[in-house]
Amino acid sequence: MCRPPANDAPHADAPPPRVCRVLIAGAGPAGLLLHALLHHRNKSSASRAGVTYRVTIVDGRQDLGLLTPEELRANHRSWMIGLSGHGLEAVRSVPGLWEDYLSEGVGVKLMEASLILGSRKINATQPEAEGFIVDRNFIVAAMARYARDRIWSLSTDHVFRYGTDLLYVDHDNRRVLLRDRATKVEEYASYDLLVGADGVRSVVREALVKRHVDTELQTNDMINLSMGVPRNLFNAISDDLKSDDPTVVAAYLRKNFKAFELDSNDAYLDWATQWVNQRWNLTGQVHCNRYHSVECGIVMMGDSVHATSPSIGMGMNTALRDAQKFLELLEEYDDNLDAVLPRYSVDRVPEGNALTNLAMNLFCFNTRVYMKTLVKSIVRSGLNYIFPKFVDPDPNALLGRPEHTLSYVYNMAVDQGIIVRHREINMRIRQEFFERRTGMVTIKEKKNSLVSLAMYVALAAIVPAAIMAGKNNI
Ligand SMILES: Cc1cc2nc3c(=O)[nH]c(=O)nc-3n(C[C@H](O)[C@H](O)[C@H](O)COP(=O)(O)OP(=O)(O)OC[C@H]3O[C@@H](n4cnc5c(N)ncnc54)[C@H](O)[C@@H]3O)c2cc1C
Repeated sequence: MCRPPANDAPHADAPPPRVCRVLIAGAGPAGLLLHALLHHRNKSSASRAGVTYRVTIVDGRQDLGLLTPEELRANHRSWMIGLSGHGLEAVRSVPGLWEDYLSEGVGVKLMEASLILGSRKINATQPEAEGFIVDRNFIVAAMARYARDRIWSLSTDHVFRYGTDLLYVDHDNRRVLLRDRATKVEEYASYDLLVGADGVRSVVREALVKRHVDTELQTNDMINLSMGVPRNLFNAISDDLKSDDPTVVAAYLRKNFKAFELDSNDAYLDWATQWVNQRWNLTGQVHCNRYHSVECGIVMMGDSVHATSPSIGMGMNTALRDAQKFLELLEEYDDNLDAVLPRYSVDRVPEGNALTNLAMNLFCFNTRVYMKTLVKSIVRSGLNYIFPKFVDPDPNALLGRPEHTLSYVYNMAVDQGIIVRHREINMRIRQEFFERRTGMVTIKEKKNSLVSLAMYVALAAIVPAAIMAGKNNI
């Protein structure tokens, strides 16, 4: 898949060095992390197969790493993200990235997590579970700054192209069509490995679907509003939360949002300001059964293959983990992409789909049913505390813990009956909501209830009559 460089004569006793031209589509969390990891792979003596990765990273947007923290704060906020175990381990696998660029000033450390039952507050903090709340753009800016300081300025093997859109993948010829947003100039760029880290509306994914007819892909599932509020419950949200005034929102959050506490009033105000500035929007769900193509030299990561509702807060964590795991496979298989790519799908497809299915069905859109689930989970957690050998923990408690994969958590949620119970209800509610919103269904529910009532009355009359008739015939 990778080729010897044209001018380099092969070394006498070592395998010939090879250059692998990698084109990463998307300088989001997944793309930037993979880029940094490949740089360290180049430097590392572990690359015994002698492969050098020459990486071009392409993104349609501007380089956020060039902005000052003030500019970022004022004009480039996106949405707040929980950075937890999986993501933390992934970013810490790049030397210096966490310590020098991400640990200070990028996010707010989570201090306490609680469950609220009526007026009772139950401390659910897991001392060993570390977590931060970060703005997606702040983390991207910090990673881009790292790349600028530590990679692009030092290595000619890495090229970045911001303001450049990837328009089309010519997978037969292993090249992509790029267009510069400013000049509108279009050109082809060749690759040996194309990384689709281009988010929910991925262009790279289209090539995968076209080339492999067995690709199962579902992208049309628009599900949630902003911070994971199911659409059917939007009207139930307090008006304070819909306010344009950050102080109103901050006061509401401080008083009512008890799942975790922030360490200062300023932190609440900061969160509220960001909340007010972000649009209420829909987010799509992507379900995909393969994340690679050996034939096309493609590997996919992040939201491009597993975008979902933010309800369990694991999208970016999983995107970062994808990049880290891909690098681990390069190490394991000595950079042999023909072996790495299929194995990557085997390992990551269950994770990506566990992520999307947990996000969709760990919680229930029906409040009454969800309250029952919550009570069960509290009882379960208590029993698990006393009899850890006999009672499994509540799956929620394992989310984000780096030692547990998402597929392990999903398996546990299936085993405890949560997924099956919620999936049926959530699918019905979403379908009914869609039918009414699009005008497919306009009837009022009352008509049907009248018919049901009449049916019950009729049955009440017919059944005793039939029994009597039966008795008379004996
Ligand atoms: C409201 C909200 C809350 C969230 N909360 C959490 C949370 O608490 N925890 C968590 O882990 N995750 C959370 N997420 C999810 C998280 O934001 C994503 O999973 C994460 O950003 C995915 O990273 P990525 O690198 O795969 O893709 P993206 O962040 O989408 O980056 C893709 C990049 O590709 C570029 N691009 C796209 N198409 C092209 C093209 N054709 N040509 C060139 N460039 C292109 C884009 O400009 C972008 O920079 C949340 C998401 C939302 C919307």
